[in-house]
Amino acid sequence: MLKDFIHHTQQLCPQCGGASIRITTTVEAFYDIIFDAASQDFAVIDEVVGDAVWDERNHATCPSCNWHGTVGDLVERIKQLTHS
Ligand SMILES: [Zn+2]
Repeated sequence: MLKDFIHHTQQLCPQCGGASIRITTTVEAFYDIIFDAASQDFAVIDEVVGDAVWDERNHATCPSCNWHGTVGDLVERIKQLTHS
């Protein structure tokens, strides 16, 4: 099972077959701030960083060949690999 997984991920990039793809996403962060009179600037007193979430609409790039696409393109790629 793991061997199959590794075999398929070795060909993840649709263009060059590279093994790793970079996904761009955003994370929601919350900051509690005060206004510090001494420095005349905002000061962060607490911060909470949310979970990173990505889905098929997120942008994906291949660091090896500069392929650009979406996570959805990769899902299609995986479907092709796993059904061939
Ligand atoms: Zn590539």
